[in-house]
Amino acid sequence: MSGSLDEAVIRQLVARYEDYKEPALTRRRFKHHDLVPLLEKLGAHPAVTLTREGESAEGRGLFRLSIGTGDIPVLMWSQMHGDEATATLALLDLFRFLTADGMGADLSGLQTGILQQITLHAIPMLNPDAAERFQRHTPYGVDMNRDAVQRQCPESRLLKRIRDELQAEYGFNLHDQSTRYSVGESPKSAIISFLAPPFDAQRTIDPKRERSMQLIAGVNGMLQQVIPGHVAAYSDEFEPRAFGDNMQKWGTSTVLVESGGKKDDPEKQFIRKINGLILITSLHLIASETFQKWSVADYDAIPPNKLRLFDTVFRGASLRYKEEEVRMDIGINRTEINTDDAAGYYIHGIVAESGDLSTFNGYEEIDAGGLRVVPGEVFPELFETVEGLQAADPQKLLQQGYTAIRVRHLPEKTHTDLPYNIVSIGGTQPAGTFPDSDANLLFYRDDHLIYAVINGFVIDILNGWQWDGNSLVYH
Ligand SMILES: [Zn+2]
Repeated sequence: MSGSLDEAVIRQLVARYEDYKEPALTRRRFKHHDLVPLLEKLGAHPAVTLTREGESAEGRGLFRLSIGTGDIPVLMWSQMHGDEATATLALLDLFRFLTADGMGADLSGLQTGILQQITLHAIPMLNPDAAERFQRHTPYGVDMNRDAVQRQCPESRLLKRIRDELQAEYGFNLHDQSTRYSVGESPKSAIISFLAPPFDAQRTIDPKRERSMQLIAGVNGMLQQVIPGHVAAYSDEFEPRAFGDNMQKWGTSTVLVESGGKKDDPEKQFIRKINGLILITSLHLIASETFQKWSVADYDAIPPNKLRLFDTVFRGASLRYKEEEVRMDIGINRTEINTDDAAGYYIHGIVAESGDLSTFNGYEEIDAGGLRVVPGEVFPELFETVEGLQAADPQKLLQQGYTAIRVRHLPEKTHTDLPYNIVSIGGTQPAGTFPDSDANLLFYRDDHLIYAVINGFVIDILNGWQWDGNSLVYH
């Protein structure tokens, strides 16, 4: 058997992903009540056992899915941070893969090989209370991944108990990281970052941790065929309170998987698929013991995670400051802010950094050479209502340098889908090139508007005024 999966098998896993993917969930923001029926559906399969292991602080059920008849206990858990949902979807896909019929000789051989050697246990969505709010911390403010030692959260106690009961040989600690990590100095985003967590400050490599490293190196071998150059290594600084580090200490060879970002994949559905491939490949490498073909040196060769990406970078714009022309790059980031409405969030766009950003890259790179950047202003005339403005031409307002209008009767919302911001009578529209300014900027060539940036969203004036963002209401 080859060291990793054959290229042909990988191609089949990729090509047939839609066949075993759970189709009911296609976005990152889903909740416990969306997940539980899907777990029950999986649990109805004769090869799968679904166990209600306990409940969260707010009484939501915590479930373990198990499959396989092998001697090697493997434990996977996802979403201990409620806003890190990618791997929960991948765990559903994994169980659907392992129970799928008619996958052809190669893939069914892969299934059988795994199920004969391994007993797999998974706890999807370990922190459903935080998932309900799509936030990192528990509702009472604890970061579960700093609770491995004190175990103040019922979810932490449950995870430790299950690890101990199973005496898990391998553990997969499944998270999402910032989308703005790149692979070393390269412009490529870290779609996936791995870590074989250390169990002491000296980062000692004992045989159990070595297995984690070999496993990651083997999975990376597969990933380089599917997403070449998009895999990084997470910081290996010892964190004595984290689960990965302690799992390793408790004797479970642990792999941290961090789902990062990919251009044009805001719902991370491509990355979900990559996660599924990682989990299947890992189980194969364990079942076949072929991970041993890789070395610590192969693991060490994976480039480090670097926080070097912005959502958008304008290159070489010029800003007039007093009598000087200042040349600067401008890095813009758009961040999701949670809301209680149906969408669940809106976007807030800021200037993240400005100046020489030559060591950074953007998911979107815009050449602003020869363009003059000007902070947006508020239109001087007062409107009674937003509706009263509809007669005014927003394109004309932007041309004239206005990215906001002042309104007497404000909408109660925090944001709208209009291509300009709204300001109260006494309010202001923050705008500027200074870091942390709200990103409301206009870029001109001579007197012609070329780009408008409203709340971090770029309108390309010469290419059809495309706008699908949200603006803000400044109360
Ligand atoms: Zn996390």
